[in-house]
Amino acid sequence: MEVLPGLWMIEGLGPCYLYRDADAYTLIDTGITGDATRILDHLEQVGGKPEQLKQIILTHSHDDHRGGHAELIDRTEAQVLAHELDVPVIIGDAELEIPEVPEEERKFMMQAIEETPMAEPARVDRVLRDGDDIDLGSGAIAIHVPGHTPGSLAIFLPKEKLLFAGDAAERDLEEHLVLGMFNLDRPQAIESFRKLATLDFDIACVGHGKPLDKDASLRFRRVAEQL
Ligand SMILES: [Zn+2]
Ligand SMILES: [Zn+2]
Repeated sequence: MEVLPGLWMIEGLGPCYLYRDADAYTLIDTGITGDATRILDHLEQVGGKPEQLKQIILTHSHDDHRGGHAELIDRTEAQVLAHELDVPVIIGDAELEIPEVPEEERKFMMQAIEETPMAEPARVDRVLRDGDDIDLGSGAIAIHVPGHTPGSLAIFLPKEKLLFAGDAAERDLEEHLVLGMFNLDRPQAIESFRKLATLDFDIACVGHGKPLDKDASLRFRRVAEQL
């Protein structure tokens, strides 16, 4: 699904996004284990080659966002970027913590754990911190949005007015914008959502569900007021 010229959503259990710069591509998240072929097929369909995939940004360490990571770095020369606090899980030095979630989220979480194959650990090339610059579009900024996981990241492109929120935000079954589910620290996740709502963006690619294609920061602000 084309979100904008040069930006595609690759749908799946763990959605990911492909962004084209002049002659290089960036992948934001990597789907689930086994998705690498599907992602590289998508890249070729839009006119790219595996060697043009220059970077992979992992928004966080959950298996539905980093499943394709290990295979993709074997098959491409992409550099992998992730926030320092999620790196230990991504590289296999720490176990993923299972959050204590509200009752209404529990059955969804157990289902998600059952459906999602475990991701293989793999290397990270560049460790990101809040405010770091990323070479993407006219310049992107790493925004630390802890809560969902300690090292959750959003990626903000101020000139393009585009936000990749990771699982800090998602759409629910009725397609409403909501706070992401399965948070390790819910109050912190709410703070992070509020932080995103202070930014100025038109389009938001959220962790699950379709991107918000207009007035996205206004919609974030309305949801933030209710949290
Ligand atoms: Zn997640
Ligand atoms: Zn997710």
